Amino acid sequence: MAKNAYGPIPGSAIFSGVTGRKAIIMAANVRIASVAEGIFRAAKETDSALFMELARSECDLKGGYTGMTPHDFSDRMQKAAKNVKFGAWALHADHITVKKGDAAEIASTKELIDAQIAAGYTSFAIDASHLFNFEGKTVKEELADNIRITTDLARFIKDRMKGREFGLEVEVGEIGRKDGEGMILTKPEEAVGFIKALNENDVYPHVLAIANGSTHGHTYDANGNVVEQLSIDIPRTQAIAKALRDNRLKVGIAQHGITGTPRELINLHFPKGDIIKGNVGTFWQDVVFSTLKVFEPALYKEIQDWTLEKYRPANPGKKDKQIFDGNCKNAIKEFFKDLYSLPEDTEEAISAMAYAESLVFFRAFSSAGTASVVVKNLR
Ligand SMILES: [Zn+2]
Repeated sequence: MAKNAYGPIPGSAIFSGVTGRKAIIMAANVRIASVAEGIFRAAKETDSALFMELARSECDLKGGYTGMTPHDFSDRMQKAAKNVKFGAWALHADHITVKKGDAAEIASTKELIDAQIAAGYTSFAIDASHLFNFEGKTVKEELADNIRITTDLARFIKDRMKGREFGLEVEVGEIGRKDGEGMILTKPEEAVGFIKALNENDVYPHVLAIANGSTHGHTYDANGNVVEQLSIDIPRTQAIAKALRDNRLKVGIAQHGITGTPRELINLHFPKGDIIKGNVGTFWQDVVFSTLKVFEPALYKEIQDWTLEKYRPANPGKKDKQIFDGNCKNAIKEFFKDLYSLPEDTEEAISAMAYAESLVFFRAFSSAGTASVVVKNLR
């Protein structure tokens, strides 16, 4: 067998494999690598294709807030996949975010993409959604910068991949953005205008991330307690998917910010097949921290103290619980050595939790059977 039999496959193979199926493929943001093996095991057992991903903020050339560079992340994911002998997964660069669009930022973005390609990434999400012109009179005016930068980076990726297939995700509408009246949701005509413009530039994304009412991370009540996220606007999501189909634009929807959405609701009410990629990030961090709380109380307390001390000044009036919850991701890099040298029984508990929770996600996403289809298409 080839050395890299369980290495990442092109994201495009997964997207084209699920076309026409009522399924969502999970994309797991693995901020702490110890959850990876459990996720891969559940994927193998349920025959579910999978994306492993980290965003630019989580993983860049300096390690992002997870402490992993693209090379480290790739390495750890490949090892976990190999241990489990699972090969129906893609290595995805989530949120390659461009916020200003000036020459320096574009240059550093291209540097990051080069490192991701060198590390073996097979799928990429360009996110220039922050560059929205609220003064624009037409959809094209509103999205001009997003279209220009997404086109430039997509062409760059294509060039650097040198003929190899890859998955491409793009983003219209900043996820979780609010104005005085609440969440700003993507309109169907914006989604259509954006994809049409990209297609005219010879850029054909497989998935589109939209603003449809979700937020990244946890949702809180007025007292700072974590509550269920029930804000994803399903009719709007369906309207966007229909508008894209009516315009014969071949692109699925990527749902970001799933953590906190009840899985029974996903199972029964999410438009599977319209949404084809589902990002789950903070949830996996919770799996690690909730296990540490019991298995490693001293380490957990150290992490808690460090986080509160560092972030309390900037969050006056907020309860400690919410301050910790919102900022504990930044402790991952600080406690990297501890988190990557946990006792075996702790690792085992994390892995088992990740496995069980993945089984529930894969069922809610109806992804069973997708791994075989994807792998068969590869041959
Ligand atoms: Zn996201």
